[in-house]
Amino acid sequence: MIEAIYKMKPSCHQAVWGGTKLLTEYRQPAGASTCAESWVLSAHENGSATLASGKAAGERFSDWIVGDGACTLGTHGKTFERFPVLIKLIDAAAPLSVQVHPDDAFAWAHEHEYGKTEMWLILQSEPGAFLYFGVERDLSPEEVRQRAENGTLEDVLHKEAVHPGDVFFIKAGTIHAIGAGITLCEIQQNSNTTYRLYDYHRRDQNGQLRELHLDKALRVSCLQKGEAGPSFLQPENIPGGRYTLLGQCRYFISERYDCETACDIPLGEDSFRSLVVIRGKGMLTVNGQSIQARQGDSFYVPAQKGCCRMEGAFSVCVTRV
Ligand SMILES: [Zn+2]
Repeated sequence: MIEAIYKMKPSCHQAVWGGTKLLTEYRQPAGASTCAESWVLSAHENGSATLASGKAAGERFSDWIVGDGACTLGTHGKTFERFPVLIKLIDAAAPLSVQVHPDDAFAWAHEHEYGKTEMWLILQSEPGAFLYFGVERDLSPEEVRQRAENGTLEDVLHKEAVHPGDVFFIKAGTIHAIGAGITLCEIQQNSNTTYRLYDYHRRDQNGQLRELHLDKALRVSCLQKGEAGPSFLQPENIPGGRYTLLGQCRYFISERYDCETACDIPLGEDSFRSLVVIRGKGMLTVNGQSIQARQGDSFYVPAQKGCCRMEGAFSVCVTRV
């Protein structure tokens, strides 16, 4: 039996740069003192989420979505070879490595998975927080290699200040790094392929330097100065709240609903919806089925006609394909 809406239990991941906000403010079940990434909607083999409501509660999402849940993907959702998206909450107490992700063609050929275009919605940032997003001027592969090796790569990366609500769209091939003091929601292709260029010479909990992948990174990196800065957003008033298109590409469409009293999220038979609660608390109702929602919660809504009713003062990030 297919439910109208499912709560998800995320897969939590540690890293040298992880902080505590996902535990304290987003109630992620990390079972540890820090949490770097919480994969709130994931069918990836490196960390599937688990269904947490309904008759299938306890089943791994990666198993369910190719079994009983396959019919929930929608007419467009089912055209992808694998489940198309991976959605995360990320809390960087320290900066992430300077990295790049390959596009589909390179990733299928070398890693047997999707490439990775990703989008960040900044949830919280400490004063002065910044990230690296592309290069500051056109560079040669030789210069990048030399700077990665002698620790001066940051000098030629484009540095961007961040504020809560900002959206950054990181195409595959864009060199980037999330800086310290940033908590965000990441919407990305379902891929776990990262090529590290530089990791600040820091060591992990076992005293080891993390592996770098300079050769592959240089093969996939765009070394021309590109467009920089956060996406231009145009929030619109809707009955009961506000609506903002965050970003769209051939891989996903993400939208933000800020509900003050009650508002409706349109559903469709084209695609499932991922709902991640990024602020406040309230109630979600889909086709007569209601479920409590709080900051940090993640829900999977099967492709279907009708609406998801939001009631309360809270915000959700909605993703479909
Ligand atoms: Zn990345």
